[in-house]
Amino acid sequence: MASGNDALPFVFRGDEMLVSEDEDGSVGLPRMEDVSLDSDFRQEVGELDGLPCVAVDASPEAEAPGGASFRSLHELSASLEDRYFPMAGRAKQIVAWNRETRFCGRCGANPERIESFEKRCPNCGMLFHPRISPAMIVRVHRGDEILLARSPGFPPKIYSVLAGFVEPGESIEDTVRREVAEEVGIEVRGIEYFGNQPWPFPNSLMIGFTAEHVSGEIEIDEKEIEDAGWYNAENHPPLPPKLSIARTMIEDYLERSSIP
Ligand SMILES: [Zn+2]
Repeated sequence: MASGNDALPFVFRGDEMLVSEDEDGSVGLPRMEDVSLDSDFRQEVGELDGLPCVAVDASPEAEAPGGASFRSLHELSASLEDRYFPMAGRAKQIVAWNRETRFCGRCGANPERIESFEKRCPNCGMLFHPRISPAMIVRVHRGDEILLARSPGFPPKIYSVLAGFVEPGESIEDTVRREVAEEVGIEVRGIEYFGNQPWPFPNSLMIGFTAEHVSGEIEIDEKEIEDAGWYNAENHPPLPPKLSIARTMIEDYLERSSIP
């Protein structure tokens, strides 16, 4: 396993990642030689720029070295170079998987690592792989408008397209229809694939669609949604951050709407 000074370290303390800070405030990855923290777990997770990338789980008491700090990935999504973000998300999830599988959920024994991303319980044989939670995200159209909504957990003023997790036994299209009906009381049809994105908060695969409004007026489920409405390119609220598929989907709509 690579752990030499020519590797790129993705070091996590809890959910926060270690980054170096330049005097101008920009952030980057620390150098491997500066990462001498106590760690429970190191695992190669891929390659960038021809260099191996190593996920490191630092102990909860670990202190950042001089010129570096631990920051949340949400915060870093605005400041870290885009090309590092997918690997940072991958490393975060591998570190979390290792932490969350210290004990077998069936018998309580300690699973052993048998592959990079596979553990097996030596007592009952249960296998543990990093968990991925598929979720749909959908841009609903009504004429030349799209539906944007606000969840209570969003940053102030931000609106986005609807999203929700797949439930056992559902096709992804079932999830689209169910979530849109539950969250805003609307029936949709014409569900078409848009694209997808791994989203490491905590372990989603966001699968994007477009759909058309068939019937129903907006009636929000107040447990999930604070406000929702139909918007167009000339009139819309502040949008989710760059790097998210939600933002990509909304910008795609805005670009199409501006074509004369
Ligand atoms: Zn077991």
